[in-house]
Amino acid sequence: MAYKILVLKGDGIGPEVVGEALQVLKTVAREAAIDLEFRDGVIGGHAIDAHGTPLPDEVLKHAQDADAILLGAVGGPKWDNPNANQRPEQALLGLRKALGLFANLRPVRAVKELLGSSPLKPDLVSGVDLVVIRELTGGIYYGQPSEKRRGKEGREAVDTCFYNEHEIARVLRFGFELARERRKKLTSVDKANVMSSSRLWREVALELSNEYKDIAFESQLVDSMAMHLIRRPKDFDVIVTENMFGDILTDEASVLAGSMGLLPSASLGEELNSAGFRVGLFEPIHGSAPDIAGRDEANPLGAILSAAMLLEHSLGLRAEAELITQAVDAVLKEGHRTRDLGGAGTKFIGCKAMGRLVREKLEAAES
Ligand code: NAD
Repeated sequence: MAYKILVLKGDGIGPEVVGEALQVLKTVAREAAIDLEFRDGVIGGHAIDAHGTPLPDEVLKHAQDADAILLGAVGGPKWDNPNANQRPEQALLGLRKALGLFANLRPVRAVKELLGSSPLKPDLVSGVDLVVIRELTGGIYYGQPSEKRRGKEGREAVDTCFYNEHEIARVLRFGFELARERRKKLTSVDKANVMSSSRLWREVALELSNEYKDIAFESQLVDSMAMHLIRRPKDFDVIVTENMFGDILTDEASVLAGSMGLLPSASLGEELNSAGFRVGLFEPIHGSAPDIAGRDEANPLGAILSAAMLLEHSLGLRAEAELITQAVDAVLKEGHRTRDLGGAGTKFIGCKAMGRLVREKLEAAES
């Protein structure tokens, strides 16, 4: 049986980096005799130009039918007007909502050879291996009322942070299960000293921790967590938090590894696919980088590692995912660098060359 993979390349450097990730997936599939069926779709700015909407109905239908989705970033200066009716990022919100993607995972792993690219001291970053899980479908980004209006004293605005215990337990349980497969440590992040929604979050987290006695559990306030992430990032394994705190902490954590171009992400839902695993959407964490689009300069490793996450989380192919990670590590170990990774005296290579090197490593590993 073939697994159905929907490929949405997006805008800017999206087609370049996802193109390389797609070829890597095809290489792994060929070498490991896995049957993958690929389908393309246009979303974001290109879809606004071609179809007048960032997420055409047909693409949404294909997404709902897919076992997993591989995605590039959307957006760019051409579609930047925040007041426009049709905006590229609506495609992402539409996909997340339609597929119920409630857990956003961003692993951050320090690669020994790139310690110098991190803005932090190498001894602080060396050995970092953590995952931030951000709740993706609730909280202040979705709560009602959310509006700007006229009040007694002029303009006023309100946003609402709402969570119910089901939403909180669902994402925390996901985190506890993931921690079980890793170093068995979970940090739940909230603002329980001030916010009611956070007090409920902490209560549910504590209750759940009793079901996972094998996991070392702690709660942290988001403000001190922002500091701990920089001061002692090595101490963390799985970090779980609500939507807005996660939005901020995931960006902070991404800096640890040195370059955004390296980092993958996964967004997973409750629904199981034909492989019996969670349907997911996999994308590098960076944006569409219009400043370097079309110049064969982009780092494709974040997209390639997103393809590895796709194999692991949506198809259950952990060994094949690990092969990709090892191939990426091996290429970096040999000193190959795209421009974003820096390095004095380095001769930089392009997006295509980086993708090709990773595929060569995979082919060599299998032969
Ligand atoms: P960005 O991530 O696109 O770029 C920030 C900087 O990092 C740029 O200098 C860029 O050249 C560099 N960079 C990013 N990815 C790189 C890679 N793989 N290799 C080498 N260098 C890389 O963020 P931005 O400039 O704030 O946003 C550009 C556009 O992307 C905007 O339209 C924004 O809305 C959109 N965006 C989309 C997503 C998404 O679709 N998930 C996420 C973030 C931003």
